[in-house]
Amino acid sequence: MSECEVTTEPSAIALRMQQIKHKLVVLSGKGGVGKSTVAANLARSMSAKGFKVGLLDADIHGPSIPTLFNLADSTAKQFGNELIPLEADDIKLMSSGFLIADPDQAVIVRGPMKNKLLGQMLGDVDWGELDYLIIDCPPGTGDEPLAICQHIDLPDGAIVVTTPQEVAAADVRKSIQFCRKLDLPILGIIQNMSQFSCPKCGEPIYLFGKDGGRRICEKFNLAFLGDIPIDPAVGVSGDAGECFLKKHADSTTAQAFQSAVEQIDMALKRQHPTDEGECDSCCSGCSSSETCPTHA
Ligand code: ADP
Repeated sequence: MSECEVTTEPSAIALRMQQIKHKLVVLSGKGGVGKSTVAANLARSMSAKGFKVGLLDADIHGPSIPTLFNLADSTAKQFGNELIPLEADDIKLMSSGFLIADPDQAVIVRGPMKNKLLGQMLGDVDWGELDYLIIDCPPGTGDEPLAICQHIDLPDGAIVVTTPQEVAAADVRKSIQFCRKLDLPILGIIQNMSQFSCPKCGEPIYLFGKDGGRRICEKFNLAFLGDIPIDPAVGVSGDAGECFLKKHADSTTAQAFQSAVEQIDMALKRQHPTDEGECDSCCSGCSSSETCPTHA
């Protein structure tokens, strides 16, 4: 379906992925919980901290990333066999939305074609050296997250996004089982739309219930990566393709995204104790200042 006719050998994907330090998939059990919004804001927050970041929109049928970065009318350029990622806010971006000229055109592909297209978006894209590649998967446990995990030969970890209510939390359990079946480490759960602050008195209003995401973490022994409050400005910025974090830097929600990135970083350090966070100043064998018994 893609207007870019390119072919990908599995080794091409492996070569690209070797240049990327952390490959992280963002999953959700349900649509509409804010997964793409969270993925985009995590990427922007990481980029603002000075990391080299890429964001792959693996939601082939419903790509949101072009809109969230105000690039809905853009298409990716191709040089030889290589696709050039688009760039916004210093983030390298690729999406099925950049591979078709008309943004209103439906992408009609199924199983094997989807697999191939995702392989192209991993292996044929000039991602270069990155600290993080964030992969925004469509909701559920279907073809796309499975194909991504197989193509990459397991990402470093999954970030599962949910909202607090039980109906969303029930589907998160399926995402957890999906990760466990594939041996994909779960870095933790982000609870989006956790509360709304009353504009008059500032009191929290729990529109979608309270703490469903936290309860799942307790039940499945997972890290809780943070609460992201409801903030109407998130939706406004998202629709306009603007950077919410820059425009509303002092908001509680912007700080919540930043804190989630710190939690992700800590979860990665717990997983890879020999990475940069290694504490070599005090003792051997401790993983970082967060977990080091001397520096804790
Ligand atoms: P998903 O990727 O899970 O389908 P989206 O990221 O597309 O969900 O978000 C669905 C809608 O919810 C969008 O309109 C988005 O702007 C809005 N949204 C997401 N998170 C928040 C939030 N924390 N506060 C306000 N609106 C939000």
